[in-house]
Amino acid sequence: MPTGAGKSLCYQIPALCRAGVGIIVSPLIALMQDQVAALNELGIRAAAINSNIDPRAVAETKAAIRNGTIDLVYVAPERLLMDEFLALLDASPIALFAIDEAHCVSQWGHDFRPHYIGLSLLAERYPNIPRIALTATADAPTRRDIVEKLGLHGSPQFISGFDRPNIHYRIEERHSAQQQITQFIRESHAGQAGIVYCLSRKGVEDMCAHLVSEGFTALPYHAGLPADVRQQNQQRFLRDEAIVMVATIAFGMGIDKPDVRFVIHANIPKNIEAYYQETGRAGRDGLPSEALMLYGMKDVVLQRNFIEEGDAPDMQKRIEHEKLGALLGLCETAGCRRQILLRYFGDDSAPCGNCDCCDTPPATFDGSIAAQKALSCVYRTGQRFGVQYLINVLLGKVDSRMEQFGHTKVSTFGIGTEYGIHEWQGIFRQLVALNYLTSAGEHGGLKLTPEGATFLKERPTLPLRHITHRKGKARKHKESLAKELGVAYDSDAAPELFNALKSLRLQLAKAQNLPPYVIFHDKTLRELAVRQPSTPEDLMQVSGVGERKAERYGAFFLQAIAEYNASQAA
Ligand code: ZN
Repeated sequence: MPTGAGKSLCYQIPALCRAGVGIIVSPLIALMQDQVAALNELGIRAAAINSNIDPRAVAETKAAIRNGTIDLVYVAPERLLMDEFLALLDASPIALFAIDEAHCVSQWGHDFRPHYIGLSLLAERYPNIPRIALTATADAPTRRDIVEKLGLHGSPQFISGFDRPNIHYRIEERHSAQQQITQFIRESHAGQAGIVYCLSRKGVEDMCAHLVSEGFTALPYHAGLPADVRQQNQQRFLRDEAIVMVATIAFGMGIDKPDVRFVIHANIPKNIEAYYQETGRAGRDGLPSEALMLYGMKDVVLQRNFIEEGDAPDMQKRIEHEKLGALLGLCETAGCRRQILLRYFGDDSAPCGNCDCCDTPPATFDGSIAAQKALSCVYRTGQRFGVQYLINVLLGKVDSRMEQFGHTKVSTFGIGTEYGIHEWQGIFRQLVALNYLTSAGEHGGLKLTPEGATFLKERPTLPLRHITHRKGKARKHKESLAKELGVAYDSDAAPELFNALKSLRLQLAKAQNLPPYVIFHDKTLRELAVRQPSTPEDLMQVSGVGERKAERYGAFFLQAIAEYNASQAA
């Protein structure tokens, strides 16, 4: 089930209906506290047990498990598998076991956690207690692995559509990451919360400094920062509004902030699963959100080197190369991005009308001759030079190195003047993505692959994407998208009232040290600003307002709405 589709309800409701306590296994210690806080806000008895929790509170929770006086307990797999904890479970009424982020059990998945393997014990030790495994990101081999490793043979499998219709996908060539990202946030997402993923710590630091210098509230997050700084930045991201988190992929797993309006990749991610999981952090509240990926050929060469230099067995390396190839197919497609994403996970769909390729279909051209020129230029110069050098040879731009190597005399010298530098870069990038060219080792040199050599011999036709600076201006209007998704959008609501309700929410949240969305989601505030309820009964009709929240916060919000109406009447 995709992120934000309600996976947790699948175990929370059964755990409440059944006698005993539901045990939720999750790898995300840092985030258990917020999940528990959100449940407590709803009036549900829940707690977490992990190394960050004070021993006295742990002892209380353990007593509550034994007595069956708690509904849900979150625990990390390491803790669950301790003898002492298993002995406690043996002696307690257990409603069910839920294994969250179940793809962590699979080595084929992209986030393998060795402790998850140990969870096979649950099937053997508690054969009569129901078990459920959940994930937002698993291709077919990973799903098979989950069944296998967690002893779920013969269990029903529920696979919902993977589509996240409120996310707009956009993938662009990278010219200047800093400039493109600044412009994207300023034009479309000023004053909103989002995540910018960079490949390295240094990339994070540089991008963050740039965004701060441009006037955004940006915070860094990567493994090189002290744990308390990381924790503090994560807390600020969750609790304040309009923070741009600039991070390596160390950030974000299990981040349950519903109003992340954009996720940007400054470099290509590892594969489609990783991309889908990372972009899935946008728009959990169902409101229109955007995913932007910038990519360049350097990324591709770098990712290929990562795979080659890793110490995975050859079989696994081959799988990773294939996965990277699928991602590059997504980048270079002239068709609908969403169709490619969904097909990857086994879903089919029509062109979506909510991605850059649907907005402005990219033109293609017959690139056969261009590809032949580029590939033979690689061959003629000895299969060890980088793109810039190769392009200079094709354009006949002599430098001293070229004279020294005698490359002004090769047959491909100066035969590519029909294209400019930028176009040749695009052609080379597509040839790398097609796996006709690959890294020749260090220094970004390129060599032919067997497929590239076959292409040169057989010379088939080859459609390539036109290389132009596309602007993506024709994006679907956010309001019409909001209407299609059945959600209220800014313009429907009285903006002043919406802002007043937002600051009331922030005030209530700060007073209790809670993230604002734990009180009400943006979606609920929008609906409040549109419907403007005046009685507790009306208030309860608004989605996201339950009995407990109406009791606790209703009076504050009704008063704010009444004050707004009085000020309008005056
Ligand atoms: Zn589309």
